[in-house]
Amino acid sequence: MTDSAPAGSTVRSTPGRPLVVLEGVDKHFGALHVLRDIDLTVHEGEVVVVIGPSGSGKSTLCRTINRLEPIDGGRITLDGEPLPAEGKDLARLRSDVGMVFQSFNLFAHKTVLENVTLGPVKVRKVPKAEAEQRARALLDRVGIGNQADKYPAQLSGGQQQRVAIARALAMQPKVMLFDEPTSALDPEMINEVLDVMTGLARDGMTMVVVTHEMGFARRAAHRVVFMDAGQVVEQATPEEFFTNPRSDRAKDFLSKIL
Ligand code: ADP
Ligand code: MG
Repeated sequence: MTDSAPAGSTVRSTPGRPLVVLEGVDKHFGALHVLRDIDLTVHEGEVVVVIGPSGSGKSTLCRTINRLEPIDGGRITLDGEPLPAEGKDLARLRSDVGMVFQSFNLFAHKTVLENVTLGPVKVRKVPKAEAEQRARALLDRVGIGNQADKYPAQLSGGQQQRVAIARALAMQPKVMLFDEPTSALDPEMINEVLDVMTGLARDGMTMVVVTHEMGFARRAAHRVVFMDAGQVVEQATPEEFFTNPRSDRAKDFLSKIL
């Protein structure tokens, strides 16, 4: 894969205060104990890459952070406040936590520009003209300013995913969650999406990224979190994790993917 940063350089800044804090989080699906006593702190400006085998609970972890999944035990706080269970506060939480999925989930019958302005206008009550101006700036930032009037189906997968990123950013979230954002893309489109994410990391966005793209992890992550069977097995800087994984489970996983 191509690195947009020069060889040897990384995009890391110094992370700030705790922004997303999970303490002793437990989650079951029926008999399946899918998250087991998860402790995880993501600091402001920090990029945390979550990796691990399929079925280890990575997507569920992301979904608990914006309360798409309720938890059975433990505590999650965002910027010092417990996650609200329902109502207006939950809508506000959702707009504070941007989420980008493997499937782009764009509104098919709305233009690219409308996809990006809808949330700010409806949820944040931003005046339409202002929302459009900001949306155009965001579309420029993700490199598709000239596609604003098209419909999602007229775009490539990589372009659609960049619209999804712009749409999440339009809500001015405190943290962005990415759940395998490049897994559904043809190989030649992966880097255009990773480059946008690397740019966000460089700009200091707080990010939790589930990905198999180890080049991105090496380049952009402050920390790699390795999950297996619903547990955080190991956390380390990318340098430490990739050169000297401590657990047998991480060694085994890395031997299969690297
Ligand atoms: P990952 O993203 O690491 O592949 P997931 O968080 O998607 O893992 O899934 C963890 C486990 O929970 C898997 O065994 C999966 O089958 C199960 N699971 C995920 N979502 C549900 C659900 N809504 N109902 C029941 N089981 C689920
Ligand atoms: Mg998943």
